[in-house]
Amino acid sequence: MTESAAAPHGVHLTPCDIAPYRAGNTGVDYVTTFDSGEPGAHLMINALTHGNEVCGAHALRFLFERDVRPTRGKLTLGFANVAAYETFDASHPYLSRFVEEDFNRLWDEETLDVGRESVELARAREIRPVIDTVDRLLDIHSVDLPQAPMLLAGVRAEGRALAAALGAPRHVVIDAGHAAGKRLRDYVRFDDPSTGRASCLVECGYHFHEAAARVAIETSLRFLRCHDAVDPAFLAEHLGETDDGEQLFIEVSGPVTVETDDFAFARAFEGFEVVPREGALIGADGGKDIRTPYPDCVMVMPAREPAKGKTAVRLGRIV
Ligand SMILES: [Zn+2]
Repeated sequence: MTESAAAPHGVHLTPCDIAPYRAGNTGVDYVTTFDSGEPGAHLMINALTHGNEVCGAHALRFLFERDVRPTRGKLTLGFANVAAYETFDASHPYLSRFVEEDFNRLWDEETLDVGRESVELARAREIRPVIDTVDRLLDIHSVDLPQAPMLLAGVRAEGRALAAALGAPRHVVIDAGHAAGKRLRDYVRFDDPSTGRASCLVECGYHFHEAAARVAIETSLRFLRCHDAVDPAFLAEHLGETDDGEQLFIEVSGPVTVETDDFAFARAFEGFEVVPREGALIGADGGKDIRTPYPDCVMVMPAREPAKGKTAVRLGRIV
């Protein structure tokens, strides 16, 4: 199977029309800010950091169509990598993740300030002045394979607290991000514990399942609710009562990076399996066994196509 292969689990959720939201009101295409005129935090719900993660576009359309408005502070709704989204092709749906490079690896200041040019860097530089005014960010994503939704809370207590305030999804992953570059959620704006600013990334499940759109909508509404940012009647109508179960916080200890072209998992992992035994075989890489480094090891985001130099899976502990 290659990167360009058709989606093995089908394509049941496809892009929706976001052209009505192009003009916006911020001077930046596809970014709209509603200002209540009252004091309060500036919230942002961001979609399409990855162009093929279409559930976020559905969630923002849901909010726009229902005339969401903040009752305090500001609310910004933004579609990030629209250029990639516009290339979506259901026969090669994984290819529209980005045009030239991953928009979600560009958010260290040096990369943004100087140097290279790309479609994604140009868009990041365009959106950055808006991001620089945001206090609380929800960034909506989805994943390559059918697996349970999760929040990625970063390593700061503020991100963890935001995840807890959201109340769902059940799985919350505490991780430091990627060596390949900073994610939007890790941008300096959200990385200073003295400010009360925070960000959370939600992975809404498999990119092309309709359920991902439902998770994206629900998480967006929870985000508005936990900041008391909209009329309770709006939440009562669209979110209703929620029955929040206990969340499971998983601290990632590190990635398993693929070293050879001959990598295979010992069995199929769908994500969030807990391997009870330390030293249990989970895969092999060029003939070298890969074993769990500690008991009750959680398998986080196993890769669709483990490839040399990339992360095959992250390992974590329940905290
Ligand atoms: Zn993503």
